[in-house]
Amino acid sequence: MKDETKIVIAGRHPDENFGIVNAPVYHASTILYSSLAELEERHRDRAKGEKVVTYGRMGTPTTWSLEDAVAELEGGYRTQVFPSGLAACAHALQAFLKTGDHILMTDNVYGPTRAFCDTVLKRFGVETTYYDPLVGAGIAELMRPETRVVFTESPGSQTFEMSDIPAIAEVAHKKGAVVMMDNTWASPLYYKPFEHGVDVSIQAGTKYIVGHSDVMLGTVTTTQEHWATLQAGANLTGQTAGPDDVYLAQRGLRTLSVRLKQHMENGIRVAEWLKGRPEVHSVLHPALSDHPGHDLWKRDFLGASGLFSIQLKALPKPALAAFMDNLELFGMGYSWGGYESLIIYADPSSHRTATSWDNTNPLVRLHIGLESTDDLIADLENGFARLNKAL
Ligand SMILES: *Cc1c(COP(=O)(O)O)cnc(C)c1O
Repeated sequence: MKDETKIVIAGRHPDENFGIVNAPVYHASTILYSSLAELEERHRDRAKGEKVVTYGRMGTPTTWSLEDAVAELEGGYRTQVFPSGLAACAHALQAFLKTGDHILMTDNVYGPTRAFCDTVLKRFGVETTYYDPLVGAGIAELMRPETRVVFTESPGSQTFEMSDIPAIAEVAHKKGAVVMMDNTWASPLYYKPFEHGVDVSIQAGTKYIVGHSDVMLGTVTTTQEHWATLQAGANLTGQTAGPDDVYLAQRGLRTLSVRLKQHMENGIRVAEWLKGRPEVHSVLHPALSDHPGHDLWKRDFLGASGLFSIQLKALPKPALAAFMDNLELFGMGYSWGGYESLIIYADPSSHRTATSWDNTNPLVRLHIGLESTDDLIADLENGFARLNKAL
């Protein structure tokens, strides 16, 4: 079956719910058992990995509806939901790491994931080394006997370097390390992590899966080999996501394939237009043929989302503000993946250690939503007019 079909069908069981199309929202903490024998049997089944209801925190049919669909689309064994994308990143890491372990982390990783390594993991005696996202098979030189996890994110969600994940994974596996990936940019549709050597794939479901900027949610999907480790680590830290949020995520997921196609098309059109603007120094979008990571993107990815950055030609802050303030259609705000366009300024130079980033040409990140690109371009054009007046 193609993804467009899977996304409609996966994880749904109308036959078990009076024909109701979507899995209902089960609010639950206490589960009542009719007998001691039933209680013991259900806990035994759950310990074997079966999807049985034992306690609210351990999941309900609402949870499994989303988890099963994400697992199928990403191509993994099973998925666990988390209350945010960051919770998914943090708990995937802590489930696989112990004191004395070493982790290799891509230098362009999502900022709060980096902060988790530098604070919590450090406090528990796990050492993090950051690596150049372009390292490829050269990561071999950074591997140590105690390297337990190699964490990837491609493209980086501000600077858009593309990593050669299959090359990194091959080295990591030879040395017995687990390969994790934050796969939020491409979503489960446009990158199939398990076909490229990834063992543990993370989604900030908050972004494209939810798709409407109104829910925090994360998912972690693993291979069969690594499922038990994730489960053991995550359940003992009490990770659970509320049923209303999970419901909204599975509802958003059903339309992801059509939304994402439009985000891709709109994003590429606006990116191409920006490339021709005299105010723009460079456009960082892996689907554009002159992007340094374009060949990797073409080789491994099935599409592009609507998130990319531009570097403006060096300009004073007030001119940057004149460009960004008063845009009508681009909201100024963090996060992305919703139906609406967003713009944000970022300075990646402050949190890099393995590589450097020169922000002389200031970085502006855009999320291209589902509006008409004619209107979006007109909005940006007005912004550039304000910028030029402020120079
Ligand atoms: C937003 C984001 C996260 C964190 O997700 P939240 O749901 O906001 O906690 C993790 N990774 C990437 C790449 C993100 O963009």
